[in-house]
Amino acid sequence: MVSSRIPGLHRLDRTERIRRLRDEGWLSDTEARSLADGGALDAALADKIVENAIGVYGLPLGVAANFRVNDRDYLIPMAIEEPSVVASSSHAARIVRAAGGFAATSTGRLMVGQVQLLDVPDPEAAEHALRHHAEDLIELANSLHSAMVQRGGGARGIEVHHVGAQGGQAMLVLHLLVDTRDAMGANTINTMVEAIAPAAESLSGGRACLRILSNYTDNCLAQASCTIRPDLLTTGDYDGPEVMDGIIEAARLAECDMHRAVTHNKGVMNGVDAVLIATGNDWRAIEAAAHAYASRHGRYGSMTTWRKDQEGNLVGTLELPMPVGIVGGSIGLNPGTRVAHALLDVASAEELAQVIVAVGLAQNLAALKALVTHGIQRGHMALQARSVALMAGASPEQVDRVAQELVKSGDIAVRRARELLAGPA
Ligand code: NAD
Repeated sequence: MVSSRIPGLHRLDRTERIRRLRDEGWLSDTEARSLADGGALDAALADKIVENAIGVYGLPLGVAANFRVNDRDYLIPMAIEEPSVVASSSHAARIVRAAGGFAATSTGRLMVGQVQLLDVPDPEAAEHALRHHAEDLIELANSLHSAMVQRGGGARGIEVHHVGAQGGQAMLVLHLLVDTRDAMGANTINTMVEAIAPAAESLSGGRACLRILSNYTDNCLAQASCTIRPDLLTTGDYDGPEVMDGIIEAARLAECDMHRAVTHNKGVMNGVDAVLIATGNDWRAIEAAAHAYASRHGRYGSMTTWRKDQEGNLVGTLELPMPVGIVGGSIGLNPGTRVAHALLDVASAEELAQVIVAVGLAQNLAALKALVTHGIQRGHMALQARSVALMAGASPEQVDRVAQELVKSGDIAVRRARELLAGPA
């Protein structure tokens, strides 16, 4: 098995780093060459992907090391502009790796397409008719996507919901439940619900308005957990058990307080979004679903839990809706996305979903551990110093020297970076 523990990866320059990943079997010659050339989307191709294209917008693509999920090693591609996310994910993954790695699971891959039915004369009779003809509706939906059925997916069932009765016009909402296999399935589902809407109208006697998928994918969940011996959390002068208690206390605030919960969850999504973007997935859809899922008990709360188990270990968990794809949409068009999928080398969308929740949990652990020890700024500002140097006009060759000087001076500011650049080299 190729190991994701690559000591010294962060100290290599970019060219050496790409070569190392190729030599260790993470990248093919073609992928390494594409990265060496910048790995950017071609502007002419971009013009065919969105409307009114005028250019290609770049983001750094980093790799987080040390990840082990379900006894398999992964290098995690992360597309993100914020310094310290890649480093802190790798740091937390190294701790969890020493504790045996992340365990991850997923429950189902059923997405929902909605048909909104208005002016239904007899909602109870309409529900009965829709349920009675469920198989016909499913067959009609699947007739449009026989390839999806051959893959073992396709429409699986229907639900009928009565909504809006209080304070407004009563509506029926028909849900079509669809297994989209390795695709996110938005277009597949939208085609299906548009196709079954006329039949739903005649069965219900109503009028179909909206016909679109729901991005609330609570039938497509992925879970990650880790169990960490407290001694693995020792950090400088902070004892492991002290760090563990701090993490549990800090996590409690996110469970009770909205101001903290949003920031806590933003940290989780730092990791999740970076992998979603790198792998060409629809991060807006998953952001929307994740925050809605964090409110499922009637109040917005923490996405993660951190507790002590009976043996005195720290146990962290994260569960999120994760309707990712490894095919479909623009996946495969962007060279950066192709490299990201090659690095991950997952066999299914479910496997990708499991890896991504592990990254979210790692990111949360790293943030909590920093917050309850020396604070978030020390590590963050040391990494931010490079961006500050760039903003002050440093060339790529000058950046590391200026950033080191900034950290040494304790004054990580653009003004100070300009002074350093103006001074003797
Ligand atoms: P898609 O339209 O490209 O469909 C997936 C294709 O992959 C299908 O043709 C399918 O037959 C094929 N395929 C090949 N191998 C497969 C496998 N193993 N499993 C499943 N399918 C396989 O993509 P999609 O996933 O239907 O839609 C995703 C795109 O839709 C995203 O770009 C998203 O941004 C966009 N979108 C989102 C929304 C929303 O979230 N509300 C709405 C509209 C569009």
